[in-house]
Amino acid sequence: MDFDIAVVGGGFSGTLTATILAKQGRSVLLVDRNKQPRFAIGESSVPAGNLVLASLADRYELSDIRPLAKYGSWKQNKPGLACGLKRGFSYFFHSTGADFDPGHNHENELLVAASSSDSLGDTHWFREEVDFLFLKTAIGAGVTVHGGTTVDSMSHQGGHWQLELGSGVSVKAKWVIDASGRRQVTSKLLGQDSDDPMSDSRATSLLHTNTSAIYSHFEDVSSWQAWMAQSHDGSKEYPFNSDHSAQHHILDDRWLWLLRFDNGITSAGLVIPNIESHPKDVAEIWDTTINQYPSVKCLFQSATLASTPRKLIG
Ligand SMILES: Cc1cc2nc3c(=O)[nH]c(=O)nc-3n(C[C@H](O)[C@H](O)[C@H](O)COP(=O)(O)OP(=O)(O)OC[C@H]3O[C@@H](n4cnc5c(N)ncnc54)[C@H](O)[C@@H]3O)c2cc1C
Repeated sequence: MDFDIAVVGGGFSGTLTATILAKQGRSVLLVDRNKQPRFAIGESSVPAGNLVLASLADRYELSDIRPLAKYGSWKQNKPGLACGLKRGFSYFFHSTGADFDPGHNHENELLVAASSSDSLGDTHWFREEVDFLFLKTAIGAGVTVHGGTTVDSMSHQGGHWQLELGSGVSVKAKWVIDASGRRQVTSKLLGQDSDDPMSDSRATSLLHTNTSAIYSHFEDVSSWQAWMAQSHDGSKEYPFNSDHSAQHHILDDRWLWLLRFDNGITSAGLVIPNIESHPKDVAEIWDTTINQYPSVKCLFQSATLASTPRKLIG
């Protein structure tokens, strides 16, 4: 099979790039090791990202994707596509073993507005559905998709790239674009030395933090805003409903994120320091941490793991 361009990775960057190139008249192959729809993390959008999305959509006439740049246009044009309203960022500082106390003058909480109204608000992307929409847009633009297969080897010969896919298919392409995210598929296949200061893998490894995340999707996570409204009058002074934000609960040496989607699902994740002495069982780390903070424990009292991915990932 011959293509102008092979894109490795079908997350939103790979599908968007493939779509734009196909719309420019290029023949494009998109390869992803998973089949869509599938669970993916990385869901909370920011104003700068939405500006880029809107300008790409305008420039390349991506009418299906343009509405996703703001909460109002998303809900109006894509009501069936799950997302969450994000008016900004919120931070709540907890103490071990005690109910959350906002302090006399909001000392233990911080709300940062990123937009002035719900309709102009940013969004949390329910990526299972959003990435699938991006993939369908790519197919509509003429991209050939090979899902559920990896790129197992690549070499440059006779002025083109030769890719061997796990499915047994051989592909020739003039260009290869690596959109495999942190997997860095092409760096690995080309044997780039991570000690070489000029290599992509070296540059990326320098960005690694000293933390790990444990995360999943949950159903029936209780409302923090409702809990606060019951117990603390000061929550009336919030510039927006704190459930409509990228909500952060700061827990001594770690923190928890909560992103609520309008389909009843909440993305929750715990960021912990990379310490060798941690127990290996992610469920144990999760439970031990949540149980140490009574107000956080309340949030998860009735919560269950959502059917996708149905487990904690860490
Ligand atoms: C815990 C966590 C929380 C995050 N939270 C946020 C957030 O709130 N907001 C935000 O903007 N970003 C967030 N990010 C970052 C965000 O996930 C990434 O920036 C985003 O997913 C990048 O999209 P992408 O398309 O480049 O890569 P990805 O979404 O990672 O897609 C890469 C694709 O490559 C495919 N692939 C991998 N290996 C192969 C292979 N060998 N062959 C073929 N295909 C392959 C994968 O299946 C995948 O579909 C978070 C990341 C993490 C880890």
